[in-house]
Amino acid sequence: MTKIARVESFRLSAQRDYEGTAGLRAAGAPGSPGAQATPGAPRDTIRPATARQAESPRALTINTGRNLCVYPAQAEVLLVRITTDDGLAGWGEAHAPPIPRVAQALIEDLFAPQLIGRDPLAIDATWDALYASMRLRGYGSGVMLEALAGVDIALWDLAGKLLNQPVYKLLGGPYRTRIPCYHSGVPGNTLDERIAQARQIVDLGFTAMKTSIGRAPLDEDLDGVEALIDAVNRHAAGRSGGKVDVLVDAHGVYDTRSAAEAGRRLERLGAGWLEDPLPPEDVDGYAALCAALDIPVASGETECTRWQFNDKLRRRASDVILPDICRAGGITEGKKIALVADLYNVPWCVHASISTAVHLAAGLHLIAATPNALLCEYPSSFKTSPLANALLKEPILPDAGFLNVPDGPGLGITFDEDALAAHALDPYEPVR
Ligand SMILES: [Mg+2]
Repeated sequence: MTKIARVESFRLSAQRDYEGTAGLRAAGAPGSPGAQATPGAPRDTIRPATARQAESPRALTINTGRNLCVYPAQAEVLLVRITTDDGLAGWGEAHAPPIPRVAQALIEDLFAPQLIGRDPLAIDATWDALYASMRLRGYGSGVMLEALAGVDIALWDLAGKLLNQPVYKLLGGPYRTRIPCYHSGVPGNTLDERIAQARQIVDLGFTAMKTSIGRAPLDEDLDGVEALIDAVNRHAAGRSGGKVDVLVDAHGVYDTRSAAEAGRRLERLGAGWLEDPLPPEDVDGYAALCAALDIPVASGETECTRWQFNDKLRRRASDVILPDICRAGGITEGKKIALVADLYNVPWCVHASISTAVHLAAGLHLIAATPNALLCEYPSSFKTSPLANALLKEPILPDAGFLNVPDGPGLGITFDEDALAAHALDPYEPVR
């Protein structure tokens, strides 16, 4: 019987000379952010998020940006490679910014000793065992699940290669192989720049895009969204006659009243959804907002596992869930999360971010294999990131707003080993 012989993980880093996935500049970094990331060199300082609200708050608006995450100055990812005793390797990814070393330590110290010698095809049983290893110590989400996701995705890639099938077929699909995507992030430092970028996104064939609010005063943000929606729909009407869905991500910054105000106005503007208007812990607040608004309230990039999503869904606290496959527990758990959402008649969308093609491909395979999938997030950074298509032999390219699920064995992607080695912060040897 084929057995798992080696479990490795590699941190990759690259200069972040492109817009982040949300179309927001790294805080405190006007112009081109990010120091050159030289493999082996010390990391640049983590950048805290800015809060322009603090400079010009409106009376009664408690919205200081205190809930925004910090972002790494460089693009950082953690890839997982699992190799069998026959020398076959599968790739996974943990979505772990800005602390990939923590996920790496979990994989090396906790998971690898449990994985060596196991049957690589017993994926569900392996997931259960690895999850159980820290369950009663309270490790049910966060970096523990990110690390587990990286291992799980690597096992699915490996299984596909062992059985010479794409992952979506092993999962029981396809429901679809041409996956509708939204362009995530409308880059630009000014509204005029963002509108010009948004028109280009329409010209690429996308019929949905996502922009961000939450770092400027609420009125200014919503005026900008109104101008953007108006501009892209005029542009699309002149071009193809179609309508463009503009999705709006608030990154969890609002209090209840501001979130409701934003939702009501976005509803009138015809925005596609309001994402993460509240801090993730305010589940009752989400439920109230879902009940009060007609615009779909989307959330879920924070949650992991079927249990956390079930808790949110049974309280009717999300109209669309957005699990991140490289955070929520991988493909194995992602399929269960999709099934739980389907019990509540709720669709799901892939959350993707600054990451490699492993992240994107894992999401595409799961969308192909689940009935209630709606859209895949296509990060704007994916076009230019040195860690995305630049690491592949065959790029994953959108076509008129769609991505085709890769059809080769496993995840269906092949790394350019030299490009991979050039960005690895850890000693890297290709599997030959
Ligand atoms: Mg988001």
